[in-house]
Amino acid sequence: MFENNTRTELSQMGEFGLIKHLTKTIKLQHSNSIKGVGDDAAVIEPGGQHILLSTDMLIEGVHFDLTYVPLKHLGYKAVAVNVSDICAMNGVPKQITLSLAASNRFSVEALEELYSGVLAACKKYKVDLVGGDTTSSLSGLCISISIIGEAEKNEIVYRNGAQEKDLLVVTGDLGGSYMGLQILEREKAVFKENPNIQPDLEGNDYILERQLKPEARTDIRPILKELDIKPTSMIDISDGLASEILHLCDQSSVGCTLYEEKIPLDSMTVSRAQDFNIDPTLCALSGGEDYELLFTINQKDFEKIKNHPDFTIIGHITDKAAGAQLVTRSGSSIPLTAQGWDAFLKK
Ligand code: ADP
Ligand code: MG
Repeated sequence: MFENNTRTELSQMGEFGLIKHLTKTIKLQHSNSIKGVGDDAAVIEPGGQHILLSTDMLIEGVHFDLTYVPLKHLGYKAVAVNVSDICAMNGVPKQITLSLAASNRFSVEALEELYSGVLAACKKYKVDLVGGDTTSSLSGLCISISIIGEAEKNEIVYRNGAQEKDLLVVTGDLGGSYMGLQILEREKAVFKENPNIQPDLEGNDYILERQLKPEARTDIRPILKELDIKPTSMIDISDGLASEILHLCDQSSVGCTLYEEKIPLDSMTVSRAQDFNIDPTLCALSGGEDYELLFTINQKDFEKIKNHPDFTIIGHITDKAAGAQLVTRSGSSIPLTAQGWDAFLKK
């Protein structure tokens, strides 16, 4: 599995040796990270801002499949999805801790690969890895990351602030990550049938990258600031557009109208979806793992955002009684529910 074929057993290194080994290259980037790895607790200097705190746990076989996910990518993605949660609050990510449980199936070299991805993401997103925990598991790999972010009190954007007539806006394009996963699953099935066949991943770079190496939208906060826009509500798209819209509507006690024809899709997502006989809209609504941001803005901000390449207006907020509605390409309106795409499939 690794270019370098040496295999060092975890038992050869011991817990403390391993922690030292994995964290020896860490250089703290933030002046308020006072103490990182090495003591009983990390020390962080509070800066008078509000602290944002979030945690995500990834379990082998539930959240990732190591038959096609390289460990380096897994490490990168584990950090990116946490950073995405801080972006969704309109905050700045600062520190993470990483807790790890690994079985003896994993070698020191394998965990080095994982950490190379973790540390690459820390560099990219400017976050300090300041601690964690290392333990063994009976089978498989489990990674839990906690992240600390910061924001001024009045900058924080919650899920519950959407108001009637607000515009519903999304960053980037959707559904690509799901189609990337379909390609990987297909090649895994082919490989299981015949291990001599090389995986055929040609021509799918963009959607494979969306699945294997998603990026958190840390670029959006400064863009919104520059445009002088504060979203009224915001959430990141980890579970699919439909589910995230329903969270915003539920928490804000509003309804919404979403226009199918406005949902941003990349051409590769559309053509691979067609190959697989899947409705591309369905990939966006229910696929998940796109890690784009979904937010609402007041109508007065329309002019500031209307031609911006990073943003697409996909609908608007309505009265709670109207519920969440999807207007299809053919013009009919159907209720958007968590399983809403069932009805959609049968149209
Ligand atoms: P304790 O036994 O006091 O909990 P540990 O021996 O677990 O301490 O950890 C020693 C130091 O190494 C602590 O600073 C801890 O945060 C850090 N650490 C432990 N495991 C990891 C890891 N997987 N990644 C980064 N830092 C870690
Ligand atoms: Mg410990």
